[in-house]
Amino acid sequence: MAEILSGTNLAQTIRAELKEKTEEMKKQGTVPGLAVILVGEDPASKVYVRNKTKACEEIGFYHEQYNLPASISEAEILDLVDTLNHSEKIHGILIQAPLPKGLDFKNIINHIDPDKDVDAFHPYNVGQIMIGDFEFLPCTPAGVMELIHSSGVSVEGKNCVVVGRSNIVGKPQAMLLLKENGTVTVCHSRTPNLADYTRNADILVSAVGKAELITGDMIKPGAVVIDVGMNRNEEGKLVGDVDFATAEPVVGYITPVPGGVGPMTITMLMKNTLRAAQKWAKKKNL
Ligand code: NDP
Repeated sequence: MAEILSGTNLAQTIRAELKEKTEEMKKQGTVPGLAVILVGEDPASKVYVRNKTKACEEIGFYHEQYNLPASISEAEILDLVDTLNHSEKIHGILIQAPLPKGLDFKNIINHIDPDKDVDAFHPYNVGQIMIGDFEFLPCTPAGVMELIHSSGVSVEGKNCVVVGRSNIVGKPQAMLLLKENGTVTVCHSRTPNLADYTRNADILVSAVGKAELITGDMIKPGAVVIDVGMNRNEEGKLVGDVDFATAEPVVGYITPVPGGVGPMTITMLMKNTLRAAQKWAKKKNL
């Protein structure tokens, strides 16, 4: 029988640990602080930002939220980032993606002090991930690794297949699996016969954004299957990339959607913020 890897439960455990560590830090005089910048009125982004500030409150972080109009200029956002880069109260800065048209996400990210880049999107941090010497792990792939670890299955020597090659999930995911000595294959929209690859995967991570793309017949019996996808199916229900009904009887371990990778992503953001605050305190000899 398949074991369900619950991101909700794992996130709760990790958040409790982060809360404890935050209380210890506060006793030493540092309150970890996160700034979240939301530009425009995208409803999904508003929900993500609300969940991030809620998580800050739960763990005990200081937080600032900036709701900026879509008409704001890039120069004004860069000014704000500069101010936050120099703020003693803020240790992590997050720009909620996507930005409205006309604003260059990459340029704004490049402006964040890499020590405060808790999403790990700055080219410096991306490079660190590439060479396997990282301070911050990108949040979603880091959450996926925690879920894999929670299964007790070691990545070392396993055939790992990542479906999707985006800069925020697929590519860094491949690096993290490689760092743990997996043999990694990355598939994408130009991969012919996807099933030929997925059927060989001991560990399968799907980050595509296509409802029920991966069906049970495409999965190796006993595999660890991590479903990053978040899609609405024809009935408007939130589903992953993996067709849970046909996959569950085949897999060894599987994450549900919702309640799998989603809760872990924000938790990893919190972990990065705490790490950023610890680094800052060390620099200040606190
Ligand atoms: P992107 O759209 O940036 O990337 C999707 C990737 O899937 C691309 O590399 C694309 O290939 C590939 N792809 C598209 N169609 C196919 C196909 N038929 N077969 C194989 N590969 C295909 O998406 P993201 O990486 O940002 O997100 C992926 C999914 O994960 C989305 O559903 C998103 O909502 C979800 N997500 C969930 C998070 C969470 O916390 N749970 C966090 C982040 C994302 P190509 O490069 O060739 O175009």
